[in-house]
This record gives sequence, structure tokens and C-alpha cells, in this order.
Amino acid sequence: MGFRPFIYRLAAKHSLSGYVQNRSDGVVVEVEGPEVSIASFMSGVQGELPPLAEVSQISCAEVEIKEDTGFRIIESESGGLGKVYITPDIATCSQCFAELFDPEDRRFRYPFINCTNCGPRLTIIKDIPYDRINTSMSCFPLCPLCRGEYDNPADRRFHAEPNACPACGPALSLLDEAGKLLPDKDPLRKVVTLLLKGYVVAMKGLGGFHLAVDAANDEALKRLRSRKFREEKPLAIMVKDISAAARIAQLGKEEEALLLSPQRPIVLVRRRETDAISPAVAPGVSDLGIMLPYTPLHHMLLENHFQALVMTSANQVDEPICMRNREAIQRLRGIADYFLVHNRDILVRCDDSIVTVSSGKKRMLRRSRGFAPKPVTLKKWYPEILALGPQMKTTLCILKGTLAFVSPHIGDMETPEARDFHQESLTLMQKIAECKPDIIACDLHPSYYTTKLAEELPASRIIKVQHHHAHIVSAMAEHGIEGEVIGVAMDGTGYGLDGTVWGGEFLVAEEAAFTRIGHIMNYLLPGGEKAIREPWRIAVSLLREAYGNNWQEAAEELQIVPEKSYYETMNRIMVQKFNSPLTSSLGRLFDGVAALLGVRKMVTFEGQAAMELEAMAKGKTDVLLPVDIRETGNVLCLDFSPMIRNIVDEIRKGRNKTEIACAFHVTLPVVFRDMAEAIRRRTGIDRVVLSGGCFQNRILTEGTISELEKAGFVVYFHHLLPTNDGCISLGQAVCAGAQVMRGI
Ligand code: ZN
Ligand code: ZN
Ligand code: FE
Repeated sequence: MGFRPFIYRLAAKHSLSGYVQNRSDGVVVEVEGPEVSIASFMSGVQGELPPLAEVSQISCAEVEIKEDTGFRIIESESGGLGKVYITPDIATCSQCFAELFDPEDRRFRYPFINCTNCGPRLTIIKDIPYDRINTSMSCFPLCPLCRGEYDNPADRRFHAEPNACPACGPALSLLDEAGKLLPDKDPLRKVVTLLLKGYVVAMKGLGGFHLAVDAANDEALKRLRSRKFREEKPLAIMVKDISAAARIAQLGKEEEALLLSPQRPIVLVRRRETDAISPAVAPGVSDLGIMLPYTPLHHMLLENHFQALVMTSANQVDEPICMRNREAIQRLRGIADYFLVHNRDILVRCDDSIVTVSSGKKRMLRRSRGFAPKPVTLKKWYPEILALGPQMKTTLCILKGTLAFVSPHIGDMETPEARDFHQESLTLMQKIAECKPDIIACDLHPSYYTTKLAEELPASRIIKVQHHHAHIVSAMAEHGIEGEVIGVAMDGTGYGLDGTVWGGEFLVAEEAAFTRIGHIMNYLLPGGEKAIREPWRIAVSLLREAYGNNWQEAAEELQIVPEKSYYETMNRIMVQKFNSPLTSSLGRLFDGVAALLGVRKMVTFEGQAAMELEAMAKGKTDVLLPVDIRETGNVLCLDFSPMIRNIVDEIRKGRNKTEIACAFHVTLPVVFRDMAEAIRRRTGIDRVVLSGGCFQNRILTEGTISELEKAGFVVYFHHLLPTNDGCISLGQAVCAGAQVMRGI
């Protein structure tokens, strides 16, 4: 990315002659000059790299002196500009930022300023190679000044494809709720006034539209939430700079670095007590999603007026983020009061990425803008595979050689819009990876949209991969490890080999195959899907596991069941196992325990009860709750019934529920370690791989890693992809690839 111009400028700075050229095996640089200059040039190559450039290896050799004069950028061997992978979008760099607010600069307050080191990339491409003609900038002919920069190797904007200025580039406009153009000389200033008045403004960003409101304005938030039917889910905010972030949240070093990184993700951080933002931004949870401005427009918006702006993806519930002007006006009818749009088309949808820090490392929760479509580099070579992902939090993945191209976050395959987005992403990734694999990997679940899609697409072979095996294999692939590992997959739900709903799994796994060596005890999910939205049902099921037919007594005492008449129904459906599948899910167990502790009976989004249980578990405790490891046949089973009985007893004794929530969070890592030790005694394996949605819970993850390491295990956990279902497509692809390679 901007590497050759960087080398050019560096050579010029040290008065060296020679050339730089892209070749298929890397970049070749030849320099000629005094030894000291060459030495400082070399240290510059390593120390002054442009923001997103990565050098994996440098090798040096002496060559004959050619008495060259001047320094040249030579055309690539293949002709043209050579192979350039599409890079992610990058936040406004410091130089562009300075120009943006410099009254002397010709781009003063121009909201589309960018250079080779920053600006849109993936989101403006319609085809490859990445040339202006193949982007949505093709309809903006460069003015002579911009053209001069674009053609000058010494300029920061040499071959910056989205280069533009007020004279030749895109411009903002403001529309009313019906999409009618409002004539206003300064749409941005107008938007600031509207936001201050509490209006909801839809704003076109880099990878899609945001809905923005003043984060301090309770009324505006209420309006936004009721219009978006998103009554409780936490909303992300954007603040002006790092010191504004530090006033709102407790930031560690890693968190600060992530907020400031050129990818500019949303970072989940622990909030402080502050009245800078309304409590309605993120009710009931201890974490807050914060990001810093990443486009010139954001910088100008936050320049003076707001402590924080809510910036949430503009979409209807479960639908993908809006991308085009007309689409936004249609789909956001009744939600947005105004639209701040521009005429540079977004061609690839890209949500904000979400990251957090646990055990001192960056963890992805949603991988999209700024990170995708950078491929994951694998340790081994694989044939071309297309993996379609699971049902929720889907990504798709194309495997090719040693690269795995994982798409930006697509989302839940529940609406026609989301399915169209999956199709869009498939076409995009085929272009980026430059192949159309005909071996297709998908989930085992017969009714997932992606499974059905696999059966419809032209394929020479379809390989179905068990959900939790895919979880473990994806984490293995990120770390480039092979051979047998103990896989601990703690998850919401996934289709099991036996047709039950898995989700608390201990596997002995390698890339191509696995055995289920242990799991969380099976319990019923009374009402099936309904139990996900109504955790009290799970609490009832857990009480029934613990007390048999006497469950009602405890349920009554703890006031679990919302209405008296439900006792009879619940009993009946559980006895008859009517619409009550068996599950071993830890995610659902979390929900059930949350309901037992009175956190909530109903949720409005998946994982809400579990998140609130985590928020409740502040503080420390040495108290462990009793959990049994039983052996049935050859399989180890984690029996949580003693724990459930213990929790009920403690509640009866009037013990503080916060302490119980803490003890629950401390107990799980210990029993996972006990299980891993039991498996190590049987198999001799001492590598543990963690994956699954439950490890989004920081207390659980940090505890588990630390318990396992203390017991002498080598622990591997995701660092490139999310531990939730965003990683499944990679696991499917690698598992299928390994099966093909081994002739399975
Ligand atoms: Zn820049
Ligand atoms: Zn221009
Ligand atoms: Fe999962």
C-alpha cells in the first residue's frame, strides 16, 4: 500500500539513485550512494513505514555499481501496476487531518480529503485491479492540480485512486425525511444544528449509513430507539479524540492503541460514571462501544459541539447496513428525520468493526471495516474452497493456496435483504480472491439458509462441517497449528452429530476430523427457539434437572415462572419433550442462571441476559460452586445440577446475588480446567484451543486461559477473527480443505 512511492521519497531524502519495482516475489529496490546514506535509508525502510504497510521479510545483497542517476519507479514485470490486493479502508491520516483544518490549504474543510495513506479502498471498488476507473471515483475526472499530484511519484497522493478536491470531487448534500434536497450552502453546519436540536440524522459514511443523535440527549435517544425497535441493545458512540474517550471510559494502553489505530474500530471499554452521555446509550451493561472519527466528515462533525454522538449502523432490525442514497431514504423511512448524503457511491457494504481487549490482547467481535478483506495467511497450502458460513453473524470465506479470504461481517441470514447481502459478498469475494471454487463447505444444520444455498450452487462436492468443529479449526488455522488438540467450544447453539443442539463441547480435534470426548450435561430447551427469548424457560428446565418433578417448589420460591397457568404447560411439554430439544449449550446455561438470579425473565436480543450476568459479576470471590464430572460410556459429562441446587440454597439463605454471579464466573474456568486435565490423562494432549460465542465474555475468557496455563496447558485463542460465529466460515473452509488434501 503506497509502498513504492514511500521508497521513492525515502531514496530522494537520502539522495540515493536506483529504482524500485514490484515483482511477483515481492518488491525489489536497488540503491546506489554513500554507505552512511544507504544505512539510514535501510533504517527508514523499517522505521518509517506508511501506516498500513507490513514488511514480512527483508533480504539484502550487494550488486555492481551502475553509476545510476536519479531514482525511478519501474513498471511492474507483468506490465501495468502489478498485482495489488484490495486493501481495507483507512482512517484519515495525520497529514490529511492537518490539511483539513488548515485555512491555507486548498482542501480546507473538504470532507473527502484523502491520500495514499488513508481514505476509502474496499468500499469504493466495483472491480479489480484497484484503479480509479474500477472505483466509484471513475465519474469524477481529476482537475489539473489533483492530476499533478496523482502523477507525481514524490507526492503523497501519487496514485491515490480516490484523490479529489472541492473543484473536482464529490460533495455533500442534505435531504429531508422524504429525500427532498434542502438547499443549504453548508449542509454540515446545518446538520450540527439539527443534531443539537435532538433530530435523528442518517449520515453516509465509509461503508454504509449511520444513524446519528446527540448522545447526551435522552429524548433524542428515546426517539431513535423506539423508531428502530432496538429498545435495549447497546449503541456505539463516537467521540472527538482520545482524551474525550478517556473522560467517558477507563482505557488501558491496548485500548488506547486500538482506538487510535488506522482501522478505527469500535472498542468495547469499561465505562466511567459520567453525565456526558445518556444512560439510555447502553442500559444494563458495564461496557461501552466507543470509536474515534475516521473520515474527514466525522472530524468536522465532532470538532466543537458534542461530547459524544451515537453512531449506530443504519438499518432495520436484522437487516444489513444501508449503502446507497436511495436505498437509505427508502429503508430508513420513519427512522431518520434528515439525510446527510454525498455523491461518491459506496459499492461494498462494510459495518464498523468491533474489538475488545482480553488477557492483554486484541479480540475481534465483528470483523469488517478496516480489517476486511485482508486475507488470513495460513501455514499450509490448500485447494480452492468456498465456505458459506453459518446462520447468524455470518461471514463467508474463500480458501486459495495459503490465503483465506474472509468476507466482511454479513450478519444474520433471517431476512431477504441479509440473503441478498450474502450474495453480494460472494460475488465480491470471488473477485478479490480471483477464483470461483466449486468445492463448497457449509454447516451440518439442514435448515440453515447457507446449507440450502450450498445445495443450490454449482458444486463438484459439498462438505458439511459440524459447527463446533469449525469453531476449533478456525482458531487452529489462525495460529497455524496442526495435529490433535483439545477443543473447548463454549457457544450458543450449533447442530450436533446426534441431531441435538450442541454448545458446551470438549472435542479431541484436528483439522479434518474430531471426536466429542465430553460436553455439558443435556437439558431441555422448553419451547425451542422461544427459550432463547425467554430465559425463564431455561431456568425451569435447569430446576427440573436439579430437582426432578419437584422443580415447581423452587420455581415458585424464586418467582421464575411469569404466570401461574404456565406451570401445567411447562410440565407437559417437558414430560412429552414437545418442541423441547435437548441441548448442551453453555450460552443457554448462562441465560438460565441469569433468570434464576432474577437478572431478567425475557430478553430483547440474543445474549442480553448473559451480558447482564457478566456485568453483575464485578468483584472477587474464592467461592466455587459444586459441579460434577461424570463418565457415561466413554464420554465425560459436566453435570451442573449440584450447582443449580447450591444456587437455589444460597438464594434461600439470602446471599447477595452479585456474589453468586461472581462465583459462577470463577467456577466455570476451574471446571473447564478439570475437564481438560481429565482429557489430558486419557490422551496425553496438552494443547487447548478455545472458541465459541461464550468467550466474548471477558471474565470467562481471562479466567479460562489463566486456569489452563497454570495447569501446564498451551492455550490458543482467536486473535484475528471473532470467537463468535464470524469465525465459522474459516473453520469450514480449512476443515474441508484438509479433507480434500487427505482424500477423505
Ligand atoms: Zn491521508
Ligand atoms: Zn481536484
Ligand atoms: Fe457458534
